[in-house]
Amino acid sequence: MVVVMDGQTSDADVKKLADKLESLGFDIQVIRGESRIVLAIIGDTKDLDSFPFYAYTGVKEVLQVAKPYKLASREFKDTNTIIRRKGVVIGGKELIVMAGPCAVESEEQIFKIAHKISELGIKVLRGGAFKPRTSPYSFQGLGLEGLKLMARAGKEYGLLVITEVMSIEQIDVIAEYADIFQIGARNMQNFMLLKELGRIKKPVMLKRGVSATLEELLLSAEYILSQGNNEVMLCERGIRTFENYTRNTLDLSAVPSLKELSHLPVIVDPSHSTGRWRLVGPMAKSAIAAGADGILIEVHPNPKVSLSDGAQALKLKNFCKLMMELNAVAHAVDREINLTGNVD
Ligand code: PEP
Ligand code: MN
Repeated sequence: MVVVMDGQTSDADVKKLADKLESLGFDIQVIRGESRIVLAIIGDTKDLDSFPFYAYTGVKEVLQVAKPYKLASREFKDTNTIIRRKGVVIGGKELIVMAGPCAVESEEQIFKIAHKISELGIKVLRGGAFKPRTSPYSFQGLGLEGLKLMARAGKEYGLLVITEVMSIEQIDVIAEYADIFQIGARNMQNFMLLKELGRIKKPVMLKRGVSATLEELLLSAEYILSQGNNEVMLCERGIRTFENYTRNTLDLSAVPSLKELSHLPVIVDPSHSTGRWRLVGPMAKSAIAAGADGILIEVHPNPKVSLSDGAQALKLKNFCKLMMELNAVAHAVDREINLTGNVD
């Protein structure tokens, strides 16, 4: 259940109602928008009589949100969530591009990529330091060293840094060096990790599990939101189907579906969903046409020698070319990528 209050309601009046609900045993989340203040009542509200709440000053509406996820739903919040970090806006008219290697491999590699993408006007550097590899014998990432290298490269070139967190123990150290936490497909339902990330004050990008439904994805987002962290974005990165020509099957219909069901920004990862670099461009364009708020792309100065996911990595030159093409698609759907134009 959610209680919608007038945006002008005083803090004291909001508190009066919140205290009452807490005394009934519910947890309350207060979300302040420009025109309304929303109190989300967390817990089983089936038998709760909404009528008495209308007697409280400021209460405009009491809604039973039918969806199992509440805070993530459009019913709860009809305006798009916009995430702002160090001047970068995610979820607005401008599309966000996150680019970088699958894994940080060396200082030379990450600095080269950071330099090139920043020259182009890209604002977010991706890269794995702690890697969730299917085989324990594959390269597991440089760990803390990789994190430090990426943070230095991000600082040098004015880029936000996004990296994957795999366990609760890694949260503090990653918070020190990165701007955005990524939860990988394999951890989408690691509920303890999700809850912990709900308690921090940094954005989280939640990737869809390979066999997760959209409802399951949104319920996982709800774990983070219900702990008080409202800066969550969703990422469609392909699901497992019988098709094995591509690494996964990019579920593009997830994009408009998620935009309809939820107010959270939606990012598409055409790299992990296809596994083939030649397919990355066409799927990135389709994602933008489908309404994605951004894309996550793996790039490498020399994919042939990449320690992980080389087959899906774009060379820097191809990445630059793709960005120009993407911009044209963006304009066609009334979005933009603010590129600085240096594509050589
Ligand atoms: C990644 O983005 O580095 C990654 C491992 O992706 P996913 O969790 O989607 O497999
Ligand atoms: Mn990868």
